[in-house]
Amino acid sequence: MTPKIDRYLQAEQPATPCLVLDLDRVEENFTAMRTAFPDAHIYYAVKANPAVPVLRRLVALGSSFDAASWEEIALCLQAGAPPARISFGNTIKKAASIRRAHEAGIGLFVFDCAPELEKIAAHAPGAKVFCRLQVGTAGSVFPLSRKFGTGMDMAAELMVRARDLGLEPYGLSFHVGSQQVQAEAHEAAIGQVAMLFDELDRAGIKLRMINLGGGFPTRYGEEIPAVSAFAGGIDRALRFHFGNAQPQVFLEPGRYMVGDAGLVSTEVVLVSQRLKTDELRWVYLDIGRFGGLAETEGEATRYMIRTPYNGAEDGPAVVAGPTCDSMDILYEKQPYWLPLALKAGDRVEILAAGAYVTTYASTGFNGFQPLAEHYI
Ligand SMILES: *Cc1c(COP(=O)(O)O)cnc(C)c1O
Repeated sequence: MTPKIDRYLQAEQPATPCLVLDLDRVEENFTAMRTAFPDAHIYYAVKANPAVPVLRRLVALGSSFDAASWEEIALCLQAGAPPARISFGNTIKKAASIRRAHEAGIGLFVFDCAPELEKIAAHAPGAKVFCRLQVGTAGSVFPLSRKFGTGMDMAAELMVRARDLGLEPYGLSFHVGSQQVQAEAHEAAIGQVAMLFDELDRAGIKLRMINLGGGFPTRYGEEIPAVSAFAGGIDRALRFHFGNAQPQVFLEPGRYMVGDAGLVSTEVVLVSQRLKTDELRWVYLDIGRFGGLAETEGEATRYMIRTPYNGAEDGPAVVAGPTCDSMDILYEKQPYWLPLALKAGDRVEILAAGAYVTTYASTGFNGFQPLAEHYI
């Protein structure tokens, strides 16, 4: 929680549930990454939080943007991003979206298979393309790789194909999995990419860019490596594998940029103990899985929860949302230690919830409105 958010909550007491996000913290995160990676191009992964105030602040800082759909591209343009600073980074794109992006001046597209490459050639002729590789995702909380990316052998063939289709084979990308806490995660993948650069060079194709994707973590309680720790290993690997022929380096941070900049302010709706045979307390908040906390699926993200009873005696509780869906439980397999004094009406804060929350909120399930958002 930043001092600015603390002051805002005290002064405004905004209705719950709501996201409060400090744009200055986004700026600090951006600046820390730019300092750690002075030569890299930072493409903010818009899906982590596509709010216009966030995009505007990043436009002003000189960020570029990784968009997943025509709709996200339109948001970036609306926030003032020049088309040259937007990458269409989803390997699964509708033909109509590719066409609209091309017409709007977007010139950089990703693919990971022949049919998508053909789609790009047909609807964005002459565009720059990069191919996404499947790499190891050990060490990440949310591995993404099985859904996306191709193998080294197929990538080489597809890049030749891209040239033959009149596109500009531009680079290679990968993603080491979201909330990646091993600072070495990118290094093995950089070696693979370097081998492909060499192989394609022999085929007369000179690639210019390596896109290291996102994955940089937010602190949810346990210590995580600083962005500078990732930068050290990445820099060493780039120098080792590419020597004097350094490619352009793209980064696509999502979670890292906004995660710790925001919190969700919520209210305790009910604390109950409903069985004589079961002493476990159930704490129901006014936000749950459907209100935006989708990343608690499988109890994957364990958010820090701040209550008004700091340091008081605590005990285990199941934490659940307010809807009538039995899936709407945040933490049950691993109960959450919360103060025994916690009661209905108390305001509690779910910390480091600035990423992957607002856009995951349902639009009226059980009558609950999408999550309110305050950008300060
Ligand atoms: C989701 C995504 C990102 C951002 O990932 P984080 O783990 O939030 O940093 C970056 N690039 C691509 C292609 C993505 O799909």
